[in-house]
Amino acid sequence: MNIDGKALSQKIRDEIKIEVDELKSKGVEPCLAVILVGNDPASEIYVRNKIRGCEYTGIKSLSYKLDEDTTEEYLVDLIEKLNNDNSVHGILVQMPLPKHINEKRILSLINPKKDVDGFSVEQIGLLGLGTPDLITCTPHGVIELIKSTGVDMTGKRAVVIGRSNVVGKPLMNLLLLENCTVTVCHSKTVDLPSITREADILIAAIGKPKFVTSDMVKDGAIVIDVGINRVDGKLCGDVDYENVSKKASFITPVPGGVGPMTITMLLKNTLKACR
Ligand code: NAP
Repeated sequence: MNIDGKALSQKIRDEIKIEVDELKSKGVEPCLAVILVGNDPASEIYVRNKIRGCEYTGIKSLSYKLDEDTTEEYLVDLIEKLNNDNSVHGILVQMPLPKHINEKRILSLINPKKDVDGFSVEQIGLLGLGTPDLITCTPHGVIELIKSTGVDMTGKRAVVIGRSNVVGKPLMNLLLLENCTVTVCHSKTVDLPSITREADILIAAIGKPKFVTSDMVKDGAIVIDVGINRVDGKLCGDVDYENVSKKASFITPVPGGVGPMTITMLLKNTLKACR
């Protein structure tokens, strides 16, 4: 059965909208500042969708579209200004930044309490300690998608393919918090199919089109496809959806699965940061 990320995302956005309205009636307006440096077309689309998400839920958005040749110091000053502005609750710097800007430095300057992407050392540390605050958006979306199936995750064998800081590692911690038994695989994993075939919950975050084939999947598994790949101009995930969907009990499509949830979790974090 398909897990409809679009529908779930819509439902959560409607809930956020109600909470935002309540806050506004008390004179508090949640506000997200979005900074985009340069003209990367994919980044422009992401930023536009984030701002649209704000508009839908009633969250105020401040959009800073800066030239490609913006200096690192200008960005540092802007972040300082937003850190000190009490009317701004979330700060998001769209990645990647142009090569002359040190991404690590920029991310480290965002006040962790306004770090709605959940990329700061403090937010990652809190998650690692089992007391998450602002959770990285895509992994958070994945957990919500699994929960939406109604299947109890406790004791389930979860296998994550991919160990990136933005997806694989935070997912590992979130799945542990749901009492799964977690295995994280990567490019050096030996005999990957023998591990993935044991998964009750299989999550692919690799970046390789249709990498996960049906022979790698256990009958009845929940399969979550984080991958976004473009093949012949069409979007596809890391999972061979056509064949794996015949074996899985639940599966997310690409597009329409994890993708829509990522921005929704960003909106949720902005609301949380505001509260
Ligand atoms: P990444 O940083 O490139 O990490 C990819 C991971 O896959 C690495 O850990 C890598 O292992 C592992 N890997 C590569 N080849 C493998 C193989 N043959 N066998 C097993 N593992 C292998 O990518 P990412 O940022 O995590 O993103 C992963 C995918 O998710 C991409 O398609 C990206 O576009 C997508 N994504 C989607 C969203 C969304 O909103 N839907 C958000 C973020 C990312 P090593 O560590 O050993 O290199």
